[in-house]
Amino acid sequence: MTLLGPAEIRDLADLLGIQPTKKLGQNFVIDANTVRRIVKAAGVVAGQSVVEIGPGLGSLTLGLLETGASVVAVEIDNRLADQLPVTVQLFHPDAPLTVITQDAMTVTELPGTPSSLVANLPYNISVPVLLHFLEYFPGIETGLVMVQAEVGQRIAAEPGSKIYGSPSIKSAWYGNWRTAGQVSRQVFWPVPNVDSILVRFDRAERPGTEEERLATFALVDAAFQQRRKMLRQSLSVVLGDSAAASARLEAAGIAPTARGEELTVRDFLAVARAKA
Ligand code: SAM
Repeated sequence: MTLLGPAEIRDLADLLGIQPTKKLGQNFVIDANTVRRIVKAAGVVAGQSVVEIGPGLGSLTLGLLETGASVVAVEIDNRLADQLPVTVQLFHPDAPLTVITQDAMTVTELPGTPSSLVANLPYNISVPVLLHFLEYFPGIETGLVMVQAEVGQRIAAEPGSKIYGSPSIKSAWYGNWRTAGQVSRQVFWPVPNVDSILVRFDRAERPGTEEERLATFALVDAAFQQRRKMLRQSLSVVLGDSAAASARLEAAGIAPTARGEELTVRDFLAVARAKA
């Protein structure tokens, strides 16, 4: 089976009269080796159900189907969503594909309980859409996404580093993340003005309940809205005042003078749970 290259991508775009839009983060992969690399790094196997966010013209979709996996593809642009089954039928007749034409941020049900998420994400919504899927679909055990390099490094960052922040901690709620290699700008059409990176995800047990997650995320947001401030100050916004914040932090075994970038997701959860 063949994958889409530069000529096929141009032909499809011409056929559909598509001018890729920045608003929807439409940078299409035109390189079969990159597609195979993503599929390999994702560890997709035959018979697996995979959800893909933003299939576009189908570059990655065909690579996923090539393994014998089934794909549920969520695409907001109805011209692309309508064309996808036609393209797949041409390259890989009768492959198990379901297309959902919808904003991925509003998807709350998926057919076939996908166990993996593989996507070249639209970079303007990459973190929120990832968190949304991990929250709504606990059956997703692993994932491999291509995102803007800076964003991927933030997601996978460890406490104490300059880039560690809200995306790192919120992602860590759902599992373990690591970067899995840079991707050249030249593999996209149009060529984006940012670098891309692969990020791998493996789900781990959630550290707390849904109520605790919401409380933890509210603390994380407050801590990183004023990331240079000590937690007794930054958390006073959500915990009342700095005395209340200090008491709560101490009850959780965290120094009130610490900064958010020093805390793990479990530390933030401890603060959410602590009764001062
Ligand atoms: N997967 C394709 C590839 O690798 O060539 C396309 C990736 S492109 C970076 C992002 C895709 O996400 C586009 O097809 C775009 O239309 C789609 N998209 C953007 N926002 C979306 C949303 N909110 N929900 C679903 N799809 C979206």
